[in-house]
Amino acid sequence: GQGPVLLVGTRSALFQPVPRLGLVVLDEEHDESFKQEERLAYQAKEVAYFRVQQAKGLLVLGSATPDLKTAYAAASGQIDSVRLLKRATGGELPRVRVLNISDLRDPDTALAPKAVDRLQEVLAAGDQAMILLNRRGYAPLMYCLDCGQTLRCPHCHVGFTWHKRRERLVCHYCGLTLAWPLLCTSCGGGNFLPLGEGTERLEEQLRKILPDPDLVLRLDRDSARRQERLEDILARFARGEARVLVGTQMLAKGHHFPDVTLVLAADADLGLNLPDYRAAERAFQLMVQVSGRAGRGGRAGEVLIQTRNPDLPFWRFVCESDYQGFYEREIALREKYRYPPFVKLALVRLSFPQDWEGGADCLAAMGKVLREAGRELKVTVLGPAPAPLSRLRGRKRYHCLLKAPDWQSLRSLFFKAARENPAPRQVRLELDLDPVNML
Ligand SMILES: [Zn+2]
Ligand SMILES: [Zn+2]
Repeated sequence: GQGPVLLVGTRSALFQPVPRLGLVVLDEEHDESFKQEERLAYQAKEVAYFRVQQAKGLLVLGSATPDLKTAYAAASGQIDSVRLLKRATGGELPRVRVLNISDLRDPDTALAPKAVDRLQEVLAAGDQAMILLNRRGYAPLMYCLDCGQTLRCPHCHVGFTWHKRRERLVCHYCGLTLAWPLLCTSCGGGNFLPLGEGTERLEEQLRKILPDPDLVLRLDRDSARRQERLEDILARFARGEARVLVGTQMLAKGHHFPDVTLVLAADADLGLNLPDYRAAERAFQLMVQVSGRAGRGGRAGEVLIQTRNPDLPFWRFVCESDYQGFYEREIALREKYRYPPFVKLALVRLSFPQDWEGGADCLAAMGKVLREAGRELKVTVLGPAPAPLSRLRGRKRYHCLLKAPDWQSLRSLFFKAARENPAPRQVRLELDLDPVNML
């Protein structure tokens, strides 16, 4: 027939009936929104793979910063890879530099003097700037002022979060809890700075630089809860109604702002050290993506990254857009600490009303059953640990992290545990395979 031959759509397009499907292209394949979390959970990549296999077609996964699992599959010969060495749109890459802020010891100051200077110069030239912040939601991380390390769990290699009220450092992967204060596990020092609090003062600092509050727009989950509001903020910024746009990773998504010549990553260390095994991968993808926002209108763009660890090899890979260098280092860490692609990961989420008296006993019983089943099925069970968002809508939230060689043992373990220890009606229990979101 003469019907259409090309279908362009979001992830749900994969469920459209297409006779004689020959090719599926998933662009920006590293994007986590390809996994639907609500209602029927599915991973679009797997649906696409299944469909082209059935139709004997071809699946193409495209990205400048591939998912580490995809890159590993290519490196180990499970899938073919093709490298594009020229940018499709041509054009210069922006200059990316790190700005050492290790002498910035006032937790109330978010921007270094040099960053403020650059911002003022850019604005004086009539250009626009974007300031990138991390998503809120985690308790602060603890940064050692003496050796420059962020405290990490020795077993899981993810950042400890600091719970001020309980005076504790908590690993949200294995539940390891240390009394605070303590001495730095790397250097023995005792001077710490909580990371992730200073950015709340960013707007105060900006108001001094830009006395007119209308010149600053903010884009984050709260201000953009409704889609029209998000579009409205972006449109106003594109029209030049504001000079500075402050926001979370939403800033990185393919918008075109020709007058933006400076992108400033204010709290890059926070993103790199978040309590999630993919923190470095996400930080790398975000930095490379956000760099693409600077200097698209024919003028030279500049990206400034504020960090307290300017010597980390990670920043060199970011500055040079060196995905291969980043990949080789990161994949070695994944293997060492047993994370995907070397194991399959799942999260058992458990929550109950915060005033329910049976909560602690129920949690202990579930932990015991999971660990016993884990020994039997050769699945590593970590936790139960409080979720990073430990209370939400009147419920206390916990999780157990499971590591196994295959998906089937993870499912078997979960159903075995649920059968042997049926959850009371107060408890919500769910299995999240390959969790995208640890919150
Ligand atoms: Zn230290
Ligand atoms: Zn741990």
